[in-house]
Amino acid sequence: MPKKLCLASLISGLVLVVIFIPIYILNIVLQDFQVKSFLDYIEIPYNTEFETNPGQVCFGNKDRCQEVNITTTGEVDTSKLGEYKITYTYKYKTKTLVKDQTIKVIDNIAPIISLETDNFNVCPQQENITLPVKAQDDYDGDITDKVEQYVTDNIIHFKVSDSSGNTTELTQELDFSDDEKPTLKLNGSSTMYLRLNETYREQGAKAYDNCAGDISNKIVIKGDVNTKKTGEYKITYSVTDNASNTQSLTRTIYVYDTNNNSNAAGYKEIYLTFDDGPGPYTAKLLDILKKYNVKATFFVTNQSITKGYDNLILRAYQEGHTIGLHTNTHNYNIYRSVDAYFDDLYAIQEKVKRITGYTSTIIRFPGGSSNTVSRSYDNGSKIMSTLTRAVEAKGFKYFDWNISSGDAGNTTSTSQVFKNIVSNLGTGSYIVLQHDIKGFSVNAVEDVIQYALAKGYSFKPLTMDSYAVHHHINN
Ligand code: ZN
Repeated sequence: MPKKLCLASLISGLVLVVIFIPIYILNIVLQDFQVKSFLDYIEIPYNTEFETNPGQVCFGNKDRCQEVNITTTGEVDTSKLGEYKITYTYKYKTKTLVKDQTIKVIDNIAPIISLETDNFNVCPQQENITLPVKAQDDYDGDITDKVEQYVTDNIIHFKVSDSSGNTTELTQELDFSDDEKPTLKLNGSSTMYLRLNETYREQGAKAYDNCAGDISNKIVIKGDVNTKKTGEYKITYSVTDNASNTQSLTRTIYVYDTNNNSNAAGYKEIYLTFDDGPGPYTAKLLDILKKYNVKATFFVTNQSITKGYDNLILRAYQEGHTIGLHTNTHNYNIYRSVDAYFDDLYAIQEKVKRITGYTSTIIRFPGGSSNTVSRSYDNGSKIMSTLTRAVEAKGFKYFDWNISSGDAGNTTSTSQVFKNIVSNLGTGSYIVLQHDIKGFSVNAVEDVIQYALAKGYSFKPLTMDSYAVHHHINN
């Protein structure tokens, strides 16, 4: 190898080393950057906006920071909780840096508990107390079923956590007291009717307490029924709960004697009278009267409603009831004259005679002798004053009443008919007005009979010898 060539190579090698290598190294040093203020992990509340956060790019050891080309991959769905990854790629000249960032979308809002009642009264000694509440979470929605309830002393606690562990607690003071009476209900009827010597079977009662539940076993029953003696008996039922609230009820038992239906002791007698029939309810009525061996009086008519029931006039007569006369048509225009009235009265008298063979002279005026409706028909002749004398002159006897069942007026219920009759009973002789063309009125008869028999009344049919109740004549 020639010496010149060898020297030239050496020089060029030195130039390369002295000039180009430092340039190369400097170049590398200048390109070397790092990312500052970069977070590997961040949390953000859900439903907030996520912005990429690449930090700052700085060169060398000095704070020479500047923007470089950054590309971002990955997505964050802030409407869903969870972890997401964003990858940042930083590029400057030939250098590339890749960094991952974890983003956690979180729920940091606690649920809300709301009480659904303002009644904090609970029974003393009550266990497992819960109150109606609602729990609503901004992310989970309705989490009422996750609410825990527990009681310490007189405080009830409510606690609920959402799926992210955000917890809400609430407390409420409780009022431990019971001032509610137990409810008491009789088994069977509160009014009973027993025949003499029939056995009284105690049916008891049921009691329920708002705190203790069924307390029927605590019911105290007092009173006796002597079914060997007619009369009215009372059995009382009372029950007291743990907080000393007492409830009581009474059962009334009437002991009556069907076979002692003619006793005159104390002058307590009842004449049941039924006007305007016979009709659709008369057969049922006759069955009831028969069952109790009670005799009554029927003031019959020949109105259209009675059509087809002639046989019941015969049956009533044959069963010992009195058939009275209430007029044929029951039309108030019979009060236009004395003749018109008697024509109508004789028509029903003949009909009854044709059916039964019996000539009845027991009568009741339509509207009663005190009626004022006759004024509309009699042209001022004061017909009732005339008729009340005239009927007696012709051998009739008229009967008004001193107890009205009200069944032709405002009374439309069986229970009210019963009340209207029995509430007016005292010591004396009672003529009771009912209408056997009214079903609800007929339905009260059995209770009236049982009640009255237990109270020592006897039932009688009207006769020509009976004391006649007469009203004041108003026309
Ligand atoms: Zn009538």
